[in-house]
Amino acid sequence: MAAPTIAIIGGGPCGLTLARLLECKGIDYVVYERDESENSNRVGGSLDIHPETGQHALREGGLFDEFKKYARYDDTVFALADKLGERLLQLGQGRDAPEIDRSDLRQILLDAIPKDKIKWGHALTSATAGEDNRPVLQFANGVVLSGFKLVVGADGAWSKVRPMITQATPQYSGKSFLESKIGHENPLYETTASKAGAGISLSIDSGKLIVTQRQGDGSYRNYFGLQVPEDFFRNGTVDLQDVEATRRLLLTDFYADWSEEYKDLIRHATDLRAWPLYTLSTEDMDWKSVPGLTLVGDAAHLSITNGEGVNLAMTDSLKLASKIAEHGTENFDQAVQEYEADMFPRGIATINKGKVMANVMFSEDPQASLQLMNSWEAAE
Ligand SMILES: Cc1cc2nc3c(=O)[nH]c(=O)nc-3n(C[C@H](O)[C@H](O)[C@H](O)COP(=O)(O)OP(=O)(O)OC[C@H]3O[C@@H](n4cnc5c(N)ncnc54)[C@H](O)[C@@H]3O)c2cc1C
Repeated sequence: MAAPTIAIIGGGPCGLTLARLLECKGIDYVVYERDESENSNRVGGSLDIHPETGQHALREGGLFDEFKKYARYDDTVFALADKLGERLLQLGQGRDAPEIDRSDLRQILLDAIPKDKIKWGHALTSATAGEDNRPVLQFANGVVLSGFKLVVGADGAWSKVRPMITQATPQYSGKSFLESKIGHENPLYETTASKAGAGISLSIDSGKLIVTQRQGDGSYRNYFGLQVPEDFFRNGTVDLQDVEATRRLLLTDFYADWSEEYKDLIRHATDLRAWPLYTLSTEDMDWKSVPGLTLVGDAAHLSITNGEGVNLAMTDSLKLASKIAEHGTENFDQAVQEYEADMFPRGIATINKGKVMANVMFSEDPQASLQLMNSWEAAE
């Protein structure tokens, strides 16, 4: 059987957006995703979707009405406080950047793509150049595929497609999030709901932070931001399975001088998960175009989380799909070159923004963060 015209590696928000846009344009593609099935347990919290980027891609894919069924316009509010709980700033009311749970966004996109266009249980292990210099794809399940006119790496931070284009690998930022959950059944739920309410509360002080964010089901996720070594949560010092010990460590070694309302979030933290924050460097964004291959989303321009990642990823898909449609399926190389010329500056900008955001979020002084946030608000 002939290979599909386009192979999309990865069925995250970026890969699925590209799939949906190609579907709308009648261009042949298949998505190869490492998850075993549509119902595989997905992680990840809430994402704000911006008008000119993520929303634009959803509109072009004919999915905006579906999106609005899940979009939470009342969760755009953002509050900043210090470690004593002193509120310094509140903004974001009425902002056109509604929140949606990652799982809901994924489901909207999956429902808009024929089921036979996604090959589940296909974890790419390597992409190498074949005799004709075009990519040969090796999957963990033993499948080997080639003959695509275009391979698109949408396989996120640790892309297995990327090495064909650049030797760049993600660099640890020195900063990690420890995620935890306050569900409806949690004894602290009512207190958290009445204190945090809608949207996001961010508390910054002494080079650390705590983020509390309401999710689509009304539960809360907390992210404890720490400046720790890359292997801190893996080297045996901290065993996240031992929830009590992890809570003790946070209380004594990191948040001892924070107010009781924050310590309560630690005392009731469940479902712990570490998110070391990685970034590519801007020097990595200078790859030469490789025939038959390109990258989109985090695979192309992974940055420290800065509130834009998913939006830019979906924009990449929108721009690439448009270029493919413009040049036709016989001239992918031109489409890819033009897409990449447009994408590189955006990639560099988001990597730089990630670094700035990291300095703001992990600031020693909450007043410095406040000044920066106020200047951004004034510039909008
Ligand atoms: C803690 C945290 C909070 C964040 N918060 C926000 C936020 O509020 N707003 C925002 O815009 N962005 C946020 N981001 C960033 C955002 O999650 C990413 O930028 C976005 O998910 C990128 O989409 P993607 O599809 O390129 O990659 P991913 O979402 O990583 O998707 C990649 C897909 O490829 C699959 N895959 C991976 N490897 C392989 C393989 N070898 N073979 C086959 N399939 C593979 C994965 O299973 C996945 O489905 C956050 C990131 C983190 C870590």
